[in-house]
Amino acid sequence: MITVMNEAERLARATLLFHRGGMWTEQDRATWRTLTGSEHATTVTLCLLARAITEPSWRCPRCAALTFHPRDIEQRYCGRCHRFAETEGAP
Ligand SMILES: [Zn+2]
Repeated sequence: MITVMNEAERLARATLLFHRGGMWTEQDRATWRTLTGSEHATTVTLCLLARAITEPSWRCPRCAALTFHPRDIEQRYCGRCHRFAETEGAP
């Protein structure tokens, strides 16, 4: 699991993978999910990553989903996991 990577590095790696061409393996898809937090390999996902470089954002440490919602950022809430980051590790 990649934990120390800034959004610019994520964008660079995701862009390389996106434009590599050819058929993706399951490993490629897993890498994409890790980098982007999205199942969908589209330019929209790349644009979201680019936005994260210039706009305040927060990425869920659990599922890697990215949010730009100010309230989610403030509360460290993930809309995909439906939980707060502070509850991480709680039973
Ligand atoms: Zn999450």
